[in-house]
Amino acid sequence: MADCIFCDIVRGRVPAEVVYEDDLVMAFHDINPQAPVHVLLIPKEHVAGVLDLSDDHEAVAGRIQTAAAKIARQLDVADRGFRLVANCGSDGGQTVFHLHYHLLAGRALRWPPG
Ligand code: AMP
Ligand code: ZN
Repeated sequence: MADCIFCDIVRGRVPAEVVYEDDLVMAFHDINPQAPVHVLLIPKEHVAGVLDLSDDHEAVAGRIQTAAAKIARQLDVADRGFRLVANCGSDGGQTVFHLHYHLLAGRALRWPPG
């Protein structure tokens, strides 16, 4: 999709510090980290957000979960724990409208979130 920063990362037009990639999913370090480990997992296909997922996306939605577990182990945060979260819409705080899940780790995360 034109004018989508994460599509540009998938196409290699914008640099990113990629930590994981397969046929459906890509993951890279967040440019403005909110925790010692802050990785974004995205579908390679443009999907605007959680509400735009359809039955056709079950494979990629599932793959994001299994990729998150792999990345947590790869970055050595699986034992201490982490948070996997997708912000959705304005109350959710979504600012980039290409579906992404934040994997946050490396410090104790507060609950409830702000
Ligand atoms: P959200 O507010 O949930 O939509 O999250 C968007 C996230 O994308 C923010 O944490 C940004 O720091 C991050 N972000 C925006 N542009 C880039 C980029 N070029 N590379 C890596 N992360 C980015
Ligand atoms: Zn996109």
